[in-house]
Formats: sequence, structure tokens, C-alpha cells
Amino acid sequence: MQENRASLEAFKAEVVAWFEANIPEQPGFLLPESFMEVGTDQQFEFLRTWQRKVYEAGYLGMSWPEAYGGGGYPQAYQDIVTSEMARQNAPFMMNTIGLNWAGPLILHMGSEDAKNRYIKGILNADDIWCQGFSEPDHGSDLGKVQTKAVLDGNEYRVNGSKIWTSLGSYAKYMILLARTNPDTESKYAGLSFFLSPMHVPGIETRPIRKLTGEYGFTQTFFNDARIPTSCIMGNEGEGWQVAMTTLMFERGAAGGQAGGISMIDLRVDDVVELAREAKRDGAPAIEDYYVREQLVRFLIEEKANQLSRVRARIPALVSERPSAIAMSGKLRTSEFRRRLCQLAIGLQGANGARFIGDSQSADAGKWPRSYLNAFSATIGGGTSQIQANIIGERVLGLPK
Ligand SMILES: Cc1cc2nc3c(=O)[nH]c(=O)nc-3n(C[C@H](O)[C@H](O)[C@H](O)COP(=O)(O)OP(=O)(O)OC[C@H]3O[C@@H](n4cnc5c(N)ncnc54)[C@H](O)[C@@H]3O)c2cc1C
Repeated sequence: MQENRASLEAFKAEVVAWFEANIPEQPGFLLPESFMEVGTDQQFEFLRTWQRKVYEAGYLGMSWPEAYGGGGYPQAYQDIVTSEMARQNAPFMMNTIGLNWAGPLILHMGSEDAKNRYIKGILNADDIWCQGFSEPDHGSDLGKVQTKAVLDGNEYRVNGSKIWTSLGSYAKYMILLARTNPDTESKYAGLSFFLSPMHVPGIETRPIRKLTGEYGFTQTFFNDARIPTSCIMGNEGEGWQVAMTTLMFERGAAGGQAGGISMIDLRVDDVVELAREAKRDGAPAIEDYYVREQLVRFLIEEKANQLSRVRARIPALVSERPSAIAMSGKLRTSEFRRRLCQLAIGLQGANGARFIGDSQSADAGKWPRSYLNAFSATIGGGTSQIQANIIGERVLGLPK
């Protein structure tokens, strides 16, 4: 389909109407705030049904090839949908790891068989994906991964443990980084990358409880688990390069994601409302000069983040440093979210400690929960310190 202003505007009107008519009512249970916090079967089924509905309406994977279940549209169409989902506070797309990193990776370098086998199930949420990179002793320094995959006939025998596996309890497949050769000179050369099934004997998951009391990730144990050699992505020993390509998708530095939001949107406008309600020295907090200044700074930053997302997609505006904006996106937006929640809690004074379930809490206790959850995104997918290192080295050209 050709992209032109008239067709984009007509499409936008259609999308606005569809989401207005189809966003589900809030269920009678608490929904998670992001794909990293899906902890109950109720939440899982609700979000799976929603993702499927969005896909069946044609609003997910719009830029992916039709041959594998995508829409075959220019990216601009999917961008309209994704923005509208955020604007209308739609529930997020749960299969984020499939949609935004495993899927693009498979389309980028997978075999024809892999594309046919996996892509549609990612889009319609039949097949949930998780990521097995981090280990109990190796997170930022992934090159030290110790989980072993030993070739045995037409299978690999996998032993070891992964941790912080988001969606580990529900996933059917895992993108798995494991060591196939322990004797290489460089630690990176002995790694291989697999599209591993999760439902095979020898793979067990144990849920981990979070600061908020909720669940969402697991420790994943491999005890002589056997996975077919056909699961390998790239060649044996090339896992590091494949993992780095995956992280480019994960961190938003490479396009090709299926679209959709992966966490609920937090808005400065909501904190402005909170500042109208909260009191400072007996008067509404919003009348306080310092509070107003902070709110204005956040509004500017929120707008800048929105515009940066648009700018990153216009080649003429980013030609000097093509991936700079995209690469800094995760650092900017996750830290923004954390600081915004901090302000929202601060405005409530001692009441800021009132959590979900406390009838006297502001916004039903949303802010302290969001504040604790906001740390997730500053750690998962590479900590803020690691992101800053990457930007320093790869964008600004600073020494290591
Ligand atoms: C909610 C959540 C979901 C997650 N989901 C997944 C998942 O699905 N799959 C998965 O594989 N992993 C997942 N993770 C794990 C995450 O990727 C790791 O926690 C992260 O990469 C950091 O690794 P680590 O915890 O081992 O900390 P470490 O690497 O031990 O880091 C500890 C501290 O040292 C700092 N640090 C380390 N190295 C450097 C350096 N070179 N320069 C400066 N500072 C440094 C870090 O920034 C951090 O502050 C998730 C984490 C969270 C919180």
C-alpha cells in the first residue's frame, strides 16, 4: 500500500474509532503495568485475548510481510496505531519479547522455515516468547554466560540457569544465549544463540516475587534439557553477534518491531491533576512555585521524548548520527518514568506511602506501585549505566 497524507489521515480516523469502540473495560482485577509484571493466569488470559483482538483487527505487525502474517503496510501506519493505543490508554501488548525483539530478529536473519513457524504465533499471541540472557552471576557482562549447550547427535544438551526471565511462566519459546564451547580464547566466541522450546523435559521455571508483591519473572533451570540442533540461530559460535543484533531491536536502535505499546503510559497531565489535589502549606500544591517549575520541566521533557520518537524515523533529520536518538530512547524514557513517579509520590507527602488496596490512597495507590515498577525498565534490557556507556562509546565516540 502507498503511504500518502490523505490515506494516513483516513486511516488515523478509522484507528481512533476502532480503539474507542474496542478497548476493554477494566476487569475486576488489577492489571499489570507492563509485560514484565504479568503474574496471574487471569491477567495473562485477559492480555492475550486483547492482543489477539488487536492483531485480528489488522493493527499489529502492520509493517511485517504479509507472507508470514503481517500487514505489508508502510511503518507509518503502525506508528499511528501505536500512538493511538498510548493516547487512549489501551492495555499493552503482552508478547513484547516476541513482537519487538525475537520477531524482528527472525525476520532479519531467520530461515524461511523459522519465519513460517514462528511469526504468526508471535502476532496472535498463540506463542509467548521469553528471553534467557541474564544468569544469576552474569547480567550486564553477557559475554560471561555460563549455561552450557553441548552437541549430542542431533540435539543440544542444555545445563545451567537463567534468571529474571520475564513471562517465564507463560512462554512457549525462549531466545537463549548459551555456551557451546568453553575453551575459546575470547569469551564471546564460545557462545551460541537458540530459539529454544520451553516445554521440554529438563526445563523448569520458578516464579520470583517483586518489590510490589507481584510476580512476572522467573528463574529458569536447565537440567539436561534436550533441544533440537535446528533451534540454533546463525552458526554455532556466532551467538554473541546474534545477541547483539537482538539487543539493537530490544533497545529500539533498529526498526522492524511489530508495534504496539509494551507498558501503560504514565502522563505528566495526571501528575498535574495530583498537584491540584495535593496540599502544600494548606494551599493546592500546584500553586507552589517549585512544584510548578518541576511540572513544566516534565511537560517539556515529555514533549521532547514524543517528538524525538517521530524525528528518529525521518532520515534527513538524523543523518549525522542515525541511531543516536533511538539508542538513547530507553535511557531517556525509563529514567523519565522513574523520576515522574518520584515527583507524584513526593506531592502526596506521607500519603505517598499508601499502596494499592488502601482506600485513602490517591489514584487508588497507583503511584507507589508505578514508582517501584519504574525501576524495572531502568534495569531490564541493560541498566541505565550500561546504556550511558553504550551511548558514550558508540554515539559520542568517547573512549571505553
Ligand atoms: C523487571 C526485569 C525484567 C527482566 N527481564 C529479563 C528477561 O526477560 N531476560 C533476561 O535475560 N534478563 C532480564 N532481566 C535482567 C536484566 O537484563 C539484568 O538485571 C541487567 O542486565 C543487569 O544485570 P545484573 O542484574 O546481573 O546486574 P549487574 O550486571 O551485576 O550490575 C549491577 C550494577 O553494576 C552496574 N554495572 C555493571 N557493569 C557496569 C559497567 N561496565 N559500567 C557501569 N556500571 C556497571 C550496573 O549498572 C548495576 O547498577 C530483567 C531485569 C528486570 C529488573
